[in-house]
Amino acid sequence: MGQPIAQRYDYILPLWAKDKFEHLPTAGRLHMANLPTPLYQWTHNQGYTTSSFWKRLQELDITLYIKRDDMTGGCETGGNKVRKLEFLLADALAKGYKKVVTIGGEQSNHCRATAAACRMVGMEPHLILRTPRADEIQRSSNEIEGGIGHTGNILFDRMVGSSIYTCTPGEYGRMGSKELVSRLCAHLEEKSGESVYPIPVGGSNGMGTWGYIQGVEELLSQWNTIDTKPSLDHVVFACGSGGTAAGITIGMALAFEALEGSLAPKVHAMGVCDDPDYFYDYVAGIANEMGLKVTAGVSTKEYIREHMIAHQGKGKGYAASTPEELEFITALALETGVVLDPVYSGKALYHFFTSELQNDEAEKYRGTNILFWHTGGALGLFDKANDLLVTMGRIAPTIRLDLYGKSGTNAIDISKAIE
Ligand SMILES: *Cc1c(COP(=O)(O)O)cnc(C)c1O
Repeated sequence: MGQPIAQRYDYILPLWAKDKFEHLPTAGRLHMANLPTPLYQWTHNQGYTTSSFWKRLQELDITLYIKRDDMTGGCETGGNKVRKLEFLLADALAKGYKKVVTIGGEQSNHCRATAAACRMVGMEPHLILRTPRADEIQRSSNEIEGGIGHTGNILFDRMVGSSIYTCTPGEYGRMGSKELVSRLCAHLEEKSGESVYPIPVGGSNGMGTWGYIQGVEELLSQWNTIDTKPSLDHVVFACGSGGTAAGITIGMALAFEALEGSLAPKVHAMGVCDDPDYFYDYVAGIANEMGLKVTAGVSTKEYIREHMIAHQGKGKGYAASTPEELEFITALALETGVVLDPVYSGKALYHFFTSELQNDEAEKYRGTNILFWHTGGALGLFDKANDLLVTMGRIAPTIRLDLYGKSGTNAIDISKAIE
């Protein structure tokens, strides 16, 4: 406490991670996130008619827990990305970088968190954002109301003075995010003569993933203090660029290997943008980059497949919501006061519910404890606000306080009401 936020600390590995990796985060770690994030049993408010989700959990005698990684920071750094940035930016600082380039979708939580985190430690953020509006934005960029706008994450990107570069999804797909980042780095290096630190999509590389290796240590130490000593049977979370999945999968596998005798939880990575096969490969790639030492005779890919289940959870496609998904998020918000986001956390839990808990196979979840890891993303709701009006309108009436009796019959006259 009280130290400057740009101070680096030695990172002390969890005991179970010792001697398991070839490459360690030798630059240490920043203390940027609000940790530990809360963990509690997630129940609905009994007073409301409950949605089919809670009824089904009750039928299956499932106890649900939630880990609130949406609370790692404020609007600027909140969500799962800041855990990775603690390691990534420590590395960048140790090496003396002054500029950072990263990349993501138009409403990228990762780009927003990176931009703010950069400013906290005195670095300059450069963001490549993928948007179908790239040409339109360029045409209108001189008008006051034009340009890239100010919805959700973009407002925060801009408030911290990010340089924003746009490209279309087609261009992004053709060139690939890695190449785009390295070309912008090269361009900025040529212009300024200074090296630029590249951070991949979602901060998901061997360095960023340490954030969730440490996240597993944090969760387990909280879990072990729960009075009822529940078993941790399933862990469910949204998977976008794969770093969170890599950290949770590898962390759980190693931690429970060390605890001989206890069964490791099943790790459910709900893919919101790509297919399961892509994620098995990508997560194995991260494990290789970290130099994870797996049992002789087992390939990294086999090891990952053994310890993680990647599910299809993208629905209509990345960042596209169905009315059912939005209904689900709205119902949970009403019943629990917790707001999930439409692109990641809400989609993940919705698709876990519909594809795993609603069919006959669901019997395998009977009597289990499920942890849902809320990864944040609330600012993404602003982009979907129009679609949410239907459901919000139904649960949240707006009432005119007709204090002087000027308008219609439905208005409340407060002065009379308190007489
Ligand atoms: C990025 C993100 C995810 C996915 O995490 P990855 O490590 O990229 O797979 C999940 N939820 C939210 C809110 C995110 O912003």
